Amino acid sequence: MSFVTAARREVLTRPVLSLVQSALPALSATENEAIDAGNTWWDAALFTGNPDWEALLAFPPATLNAEEQAFMTGPVETLCEMIDDWRMTWETHDLSPEAWAYLKSEKFFGIIIPKEHGGLGFSNFAHSEIVRKIATRSVSGAVTAMVPNSLGPGELILRFGTETQQEQWLPRLADGREIPAFGLTSPEAGSDAAAMIDEGVVCRGDWKGEDVLGIRLNWHKRYITLGPVATILGLAFKLRDPEHLLGGQEEIGITLALVPTDLPGVTIGRRHIPSMQTFQNGPNEGKDVFIPLDNVIGGPERVGQGWKMLMSALAAGRGISLPSLSAAAGAFAAHTTGAYARVRSQFNLPIGKFEGIQERLARIAGNAYLLDGARRLTCAGLDQGNHPAVISSILKLHATERMRVVINDAMDVHGGKAVIDGPRNYMASHYRAIPVGITVEGANILTRSLMVFGQGAIRSHPYLLDEIRAVGGTDRTQALADFDKVLWKHVGHALKTAIRAFVRSWSGGVFAPAPKAGKATRYYRQMSRYAAAFAFCSDIAFLTLGGELKRRELLSARLGDVLSELYMLSGALKRWEDEGRQDDDLPLLDWCVQSGFASIEQSFAQIIENFPVRPVGWMLRLFIMPYGRRRNGPTDRTVRRAAAILLEPCPARDRLVENVYLGGEDEAVARLTEAFRKTVTTQPIHDRMKQAHVLNADEALTAGLISAEERKQLREADAAVAEVIAVDDFAPEELARRAEAPLREAAE
Ligand SMILES: Cc1cc2nc3c(=O)[nH]c(=O)nc-3n(C[C@H](O)[C@H](O)[C@H](O)COP(=O)(O)OP(=O)(O)OC[C@H]3O[C@@H](n4cnc5c(N)ncnc54)[C@H](O)[C@@H]3O)c2cc1C
Repeated sequence: MSFVTAARREVLTRPVLSLVQSALPALSATENEAIDAGNTWWDAALFTGNPDWEALLAFPPATLNAEEQAFMTGPVETLCEMIDDWRMTWETHDLSPEAWAYLKSEKFFGIIIPKEHGGLGFSNFAHSEIVRKIATRSVSGAVTAMVPNSLGPGELILRFGTETQQEQWLPRLADGREIPAFGLTSPEAGSDAAAMIDEGVVCRGDWKGEDVLGIRLNWHKRYITLGPVATILGLAFKLRDPEHLLGGQEEIGITLALVPTDLPGVTIGRRHIPSMQTFQNGPNEGKDVFIPLDNVIGGPERVGQGWKMLMSALAAGRGISLPSLSAAAGAFAAHTTGAYARVRSQFNLPIGKFEGIQERLARIAGNAYLLDGARRLTCAGLDQGNHPAVISSILKLHATERMRVVINDAMDVHGGKAVIDGPRNYMASHYRAIPVGITVEGANILTRSLMVFGQGAIRSHPYLLDEIRAVGGTDRTQALADFDKVLWKHVGHALKTAIRAFVRSWSGGVFAPAPKAGKATRYYRQMSRYAAAFAFCSDIAFLTLGGELKRRELLSARLGDVLSELYMLSGALKRWEDEGRQDDDLPLLDWCVQSGFASIEQSFAQIIENFPVRPVGWMLRLFIMPYGRRRNGPTDRTVRRAAAILLEPCPARDRLVENVYLGGEDEAVARLTEAFRKTVTTQPIHDRMKQAHVLNADEALTAGLISAEERKQLREADAAVAEVIAVDDFAPEELARRAEAPLREAAE
């Protein structure tokens, strides 16, 4: 060690280390495990404050291979045909037996299970595409197909299971002989899942006639998807070994095990009704259920590692399942709402002509574009072998929040048509499903307030985790040496970031780095500007608040919002590039960036205004927002142009609504699509009549303005539109039939 390094360590680093040690609380065991789960990816690039855009553009885009494509047009299409969401909701409360059988026989439950274990072995993108398409038909259908492939015993066995467990269970899960469910949540432990009181005690017991070492389980779980029909439960519980039969400590910690539901003491079967969605969901209980130690996922050596395994599985799953449902909602809302706004007239005009409606259509179209871009980018990352935990949290949170926005907008544009329930209403079920997406796999308020920036700051920051770990070291000399190494790199990085943030903000980002990306180049410059500002703000927040930042949820949430916008916009920009820089799609990209930049500036403004140390807030303003807030969201021109895409058949619209299931010709969405086509085709005839001030088709025919064939076309279009705007009504007797076995009594 040189004299300079030694002097620096003693004189400068040591006092900083003492200061940091008192300011930073040590990471708890569960936090450490959450941090170790998964890896970082594009989030780390954004956190540097100087992302390499060329690297983003060079990521191979997510694509389907021929086999996956064939599955989409074959079994997925057939499954969609078999699902009748209305009947499921109001009559059977379940998928039909045929649909269940088809899900099993076509291996929908084994999408992610490799071929050598009897599954389909598809990519993450294929998994996402399959869920997305089914969800345009029925959210409950999609959830049923999705859950065995997301967080559940299948993925856990695949990643952590012993060879014997993989051989025993994976082929049976792949072809549906076993139906899995994953039980984590209990009445006392929801968001704070680690607080569960469900317990396993190591003991000896009888297993198939032999006396073996095992676990006696007692639990009460609720909200468990597929739980009521599960044959195998992946169960999370706290393991204790009071007799030290495993030779170690008494409190072993959270453990995951496979529990066949036909064992004595297991109770399953009762159902919840989650927002009138009909996927199987319910509570389950176990009373003194004995399992052998070999049923611990990963075998006896994985006892106590359950939390880490869970976090790791969530790191991937969260990036696929809910985002795919949300992308489906975006595309579905874009197709149906655009078509409806075109066929539905009021005040003698299609409602899509009104600016108020256009504002909503643009928001639906922009969000649909953004959502799908971010989903594809994430799937591409996952397919390269990443398990990006922070990105998965961002995507889960922002995809489901935007799903809420697009579905709410779609409801408003449809008016009464979407309010009145019945087989003709294709929107209500999506509306009812929104809270499910918001709540599951990490409820959104918690995810926004604690996880995105809370974990992102530590994991994705180039130096912070190394610093925290150095500070926590027990050997003080080693801690000083480790801390010294990383601290000065961090200081150098922070200085560069401060200069970047300052220069890019004062120059309005015009000289900030950007790849050659045609008309989108200027957007990358602004992204570079905001990324530098974000990295600077983050460093200042750590420096001034230290461990206190954890408790400042409002600040953490806003910093997380900036990171999230940067990520979502990266997805939209990457999509534009991957799709060949389509000029027609520019209004959609414009909408995304204009709205995203406004939201980034709003978050910065709120951070500055509310920064707990006031002079630091003023300094932040000087560095990152010298001219104040200047972005106000999508311009009226952008709104009109983005909305127009949904009101007219065109390639940009086709790209946006690709793979939306339309249904058979007598079904609501197919009828709407047909009415839309007919309305657009007959538009020139209407225009001609309007020019001649003749509004009646018979008069137009008599006056020689239109031909008999054209009058026929007009009549057909009118009939198709009448079918679309019609809503359902029911005879009192039909409704009374539903009251024959009131659910209220059944629940009591
Ligand atoms: C339809 C459905 C299906 C589900 N499927 C499964 C399943 O298959 N398996 C399974 O194990 N679980 C499942 N769950 C459970 C789900 O993961 C939990 O509902 C979720 O974790 C939230 O727990 P909770 O509902 O008890 O809400 P609570 O934990 O009571 O939270 C209430 C509110 O407080 C917020 N909150 C909590 N802590 C904080 C904080 N520190 N800061 C800010 N806000 C906070 C939350 O965001 C939420 O908005 C399912 C739930 C539903 C509704």
